[in-house]
Amino acid sequence: MAVRDGRGFIAGLRAQPREIWVEGERVGDVTTHPAFRESVARLAELYDMQVDPVHQETLTYVVPETGQRAGAAFMPAFGLADLQKRRAAYRLWAEATFGLMGRSPDFLNVSLLAFAEAKHVFARGGEAFGGNIERYYAHVRDNDLFLSHALITPQNDRSRPSSGQADPSLHLKVVRESSAGITVSGARMLATLGPVADEMILYNLPGFRPGDEDHAIMFAVPAGIDGLRQICRTPYDRGGRSRFDHPLAARFEESDALLIFDNVLVPWERVFLYRDVALSNAVYPDTALRNHTAHQTNTRALVKLQFAVGLAIALARAIGADQFLHVQQMLGECLGTIEIIKSGLVRAEIEHERTAAGPVRAALAPLQALRAFLPTAYPRVVEVLQTIGAGGLMMMPSGADFAVPDIAEGVRRHYQGAAGVSALERVRLFKLAWDLVGDAFGARQLQYERYYAGDPVRILAGNYLAADDREPMALVDKAKALAEDPMLG
Ligand SMILES: Cc1cc2nc3c(=O)[nH]c(=O)nc-3n(C[C@H](O)[C@H](O)[C@H](O)COP(=O)(O)OP(=O)(O)OC[C@H]3O[C@@H](n4cnc5c(N)ncnc54)[C@H](O)[C@@H]3O)c2cc1C
Repeated sequence: MAVRDGRGFIAGLRAQPREIWVEGERVGDVTTHPAFRESVARLAELYDMQVDPVHQETLTYVVPETGQRAGAAFMPAFGLADLQKRRAAYRLWAEATFGLMGRSPDFLNVSLLAFAEAKHVFARGGEAFGGNIERYYAHVRDNDLFLSHALITPQNDRSRPSSGQADPSLHLKVVRESSAGITVSGARMLATLGPVADEMILYNLPGFRPGDEDHAIMFAVPAGIDGLRQICRTPYDRGGRSRFDHPLAARFEESDALLIFDNVLVPWERVFLYRDVALSNAVYPDTALRNHTAHQTNTRALVKLQFAVGLAIALARAIGADQFLHVQQMLGECLGTIEIIKSGLVRAEIEHERTAAGPVRAALAPLQALRAFLPTAYPRVVEVLQTIGAGGLMMMPSGADFAVPDIAEGVRRHYQGAAGVSALERVRLFKLAWDLVGDAFGARQLQYERYYAGDPVRILAGNYLAADDREPMALVDKAKALAEDPMLG
């Protein structure tokens, strides 16, 4: 099978009933339910782009083994040009959603590529696991499946390990094994777009401790498998919001779900890591997972940041605030942030790392630096937008007010902006800004950038612990030599 289009994606979801709960309601068809149909439509648009002759070359490649096209994120890179091609594909999809859909399919597609390229790492836990992950990568690539993932144990008691929770059945773990496979029970968070995914892949952020062996597992299952239940957070939009008043929130919301497994049987061919704490903790450092995903996520986040900065500039110009020195200073700072992210991505590609097996990967250090930078850089841009929009963000009329004869004239007159900006144009801009930085949708967008890649505290600490500090330390050593030896004096 080749790449899917939007219709193929929607047909796949309809063909696989699943257990989804939202606001106490059991969802029938996620493709038509008001809480999910917009994200299904956005994902379908991304899949449609894959078969659009205008975008096909950018978004796909021909798989040598099959002769069929697959998404570019599945494509191994053998040099700079391949990394640049992958980034062009990430960027094109990100632009289609203004970077607001964090878990577009390319994120987990490239994660699977990282796993398949590191099949030897999985084989450390048993030869079969290396083959399993390689075949699963090919299965997802060739059927163009959409995956969601849940890496985190729920926040029950963070001071204790999974095996030490007051109720030992809380966190996902293996409860039985047989010749057919492993049976798993317990919960995991936080599957963004889980309700509209074809499959779930479960792996782990590092952090399991000796004693957590039953939790240290990695596997994949179809979203509709017996015993898997998804409980969604309260949606921000159930399809009733005006697309003028909420131009972003009414279109780009990604659902988030808690996954609860109740005696789910996972066949052995979908098990990739089994009861191995050390190997579970080694998946991140010993595969190119962070390199590959950060190349995609930083590209996506750059688009979102550029959009937010563009909005800040447009807002300032619409009310003449760009004439003030401190506003210019803030906008200059934001534009500088864009340059920093662009530079990090390009350096990561140019200074790519070669692997013994052949494929290359974008360099980790600049990508990790960006990963740690964005959780403060994006909130800063949000703050700038809030500072420039100020009270105007609160004062906007509804779209409906423009159509009411009694007030339309007043609305058009009093909401006009600087330098000929019409009321409609100004209100439009401020509505975009409010969705991004004020609405519940915007609050989630902010929380997403802070946490989607993990806890920023531990990411920064990890960057220090794994850093190549030779250049700064060499300078210190050289400077230390300047100080005369007091014993000689
Ligand atoms: C909008 C959104 C979407 C997401 N989508 C996904 C997704 O699709 N898939 C997925 O798997 N995950 C997803 N995540 C989850 C994300 O991976 C986690 O939020 C992130 O790893 C942080 O974990 P946590 O939320 O459990 O916070 P915690 O780890 O519980 O941290 C809470 C606080 O306690 C501190 N803390 C906790 N434990 C420690 C410790 N051991 N050492 C030091 N400090 C500690 C933290 O610094 C923090 O201040 C998403 C998160 C958000 C916000």
